[in-house]
Amino acid sequence: MAGNEALVVRRSENARIRAELAALDELVGSRPSEARRRAHELQQQAEALSDVGAVACALIWQAEAAGREGHQATAVELIDRSRELGIELEPELVVRSEWVMSRVQNDLGDQAAALDRVMDAVAAFGPDVSRRLRTRVMLTGADLLDDLGARQDSLIWYSRAEELADTDIHMRIMVANNRAYGSLSAGDTADAEAQAQMLIELSRKHNRPLNAGVLDTIANVHLLRGDARAAVETAQQAVDATGQMDTKVADAPPEYLLTLAVAQRSLGEPAEAALTLKRARAACGPEGHGRMKVRILEQEAEVLAALGDFEGAFHAYKAFHAADRDLLSAQREAAARSRQTIFETDKAREEAARYREEARRDPLTGLHNRLFVEERLNRLLETAGTLGVALIDLDHFKSVNDSFSHEVGDEVLRVVARVLQACVAEAGGNGSFAARLGGEELLIVTADAGRGAREVAERARTEVAGQDWSGLTPGRVITFSAGTAVAVPGDTRATLLSRADAQLYEAKSAGRNRVRGH
Ligand code: GH3
Ligand code: MG
Ligand code: MG
Repeated sequence: MAGNEALVVRRSENARIRAELAALDELVGSRPSEARRRAHELQQQAEALSDVGAVACALIWQAEAAGREGHQATAVELIDRSRELGIELEPELVVRSEWVMSRVQNDLGDQAAALDRVMDAVAAFGPDVSRRLRTRVMLTGADLLDDLGARQDSLIWYSRAEELADTDIHMRIMVANNRAYGSLSAGDTADAEAQAQMLIELSRKHNRPLNAGVLDTIANVHLLRGDARAAVETAQQAVDATGQMDTKVADAPPEYLLTLAVAQRSLGEPAEAALTLKRARAACGPEGHGRMKVRILEQEAEVLAALGDFEGAFHAYKAFHAADRDLLSAQREAAARSRQTIFETDKAREEAARYREEARRDPLTGLHNRLFVEERLNRLLETAGTLGVALIDLDHFKSVNDSFSHEVGDEVLRVVARVLQACVAEAGGNGSFAARLGGEELLIVTADAGRGAREVAERARTEVAGQDWSGLTPGRVITFSAGTAVAVPGDTRATLLSRADAQLYEAKSAGRNRVRGH
């Protein structure tokens, strides 16, 4: 295959992987384990093509799926790995990873930390972030505010999420469902009913069958209204609709069975309710569903009492209270374990960042070093509007060392470094910095700054020469020479620095202690 053709094929492979990753959006909600497998396959394909962004994206999907399956520690590790790949370049990935972390914190019972993550996600919003993701973030924020008791704020966030969802019916339904659920918990019957009504209308108008989760919400709204018959009917639909859900057990999820049992008991059908509870208990399986098991025991006590079996009811109540206690301590332990994981990965990330930073500093002066210059200057050549450099070399520095001592020479370098740093800070510009290239060669870079490199170098030169050196180098004034250059289109790091170097040579030849260049 010719080189060009290979490149085209590669590009279309990248596009296919990205498209397939984007399509995981609905799958991850309904069938997380399948989504996780698929995301892992796509991760490997993206790795083969060295598409780092796609690898990071695949890791984030796996994290979301792991979180949904109750593996919070794994989710944290996956997010961490995605961050090591440098996702800060893609706003969609930044927002999604913050959002997944928010869900994890929420699952661990730390709603305040979860809300912080939502705020970080919102701060990273921009035109590049998909509308659907922004809707999800706003919706999660609304749910959290509701949980935290900030009902007024949560209603504003729900409205904002609804506006963002706009013509995306899948998301409109999700927003109304969550809002209804929040209103149920808050005892806001009017809003819960309004949302249930909207859900039914959306479903009818757009010919979209409501999923089991939404039917379960509506059944609970019927229960709140005291319409047990409608509640049984809708809860039964939720139970029947769960064939499409991702559960390892054959039956419907215990949550929907529990709603059905409560509705049946309310309708005065305790025998049916008892049978449904049995199914719910079986659906819990041997592991997991701790909270659900407790709620089932509680309902069993109620149902047995309704059936006139008071002794059975008494034992069921006792079992319920014991299970409730166990659950609480198990939850505390799990939360503590996962928090430890988060703490450790945060610490590792901090250490990695510190190590990275240290490797880009000169230990003698504290200025940036050559490695930093190489990385940063390349980036600034692409991004900065105006960019200037001043290459600085101390005058007759060898004789300073010879006349005094190497230690005094070192101290002179530190003093000059401090002057440069102050002058750069004064000049402003986000990307501006001072560096030590090695020996007594220093560099000033000004990027989109209030003053150009030439002006900054001239100020620094005047200040160094004007210092009182009598304490450090008695009888000797320290000076430097500098050559400056301004970046033009097409410049590379090498061409820019070599122009400055030529000017430095001019400054030295013309008698030192001067700045030459543009
Ligand atoms: P010129 O004005 O032409 O630049 O003269 P110069 O003496 O500065 O030039 P040259 O490059 O020959 O000497 C540089 C000297 O800088 C050599 C070395 O003794 C000194 N030097 C390099 N690195 C360090 C350092 O880290 N600490 C100290 N104290 N001196 C250093
Ligand atoms: Mg030199
Ligand atoms: Mg020198």
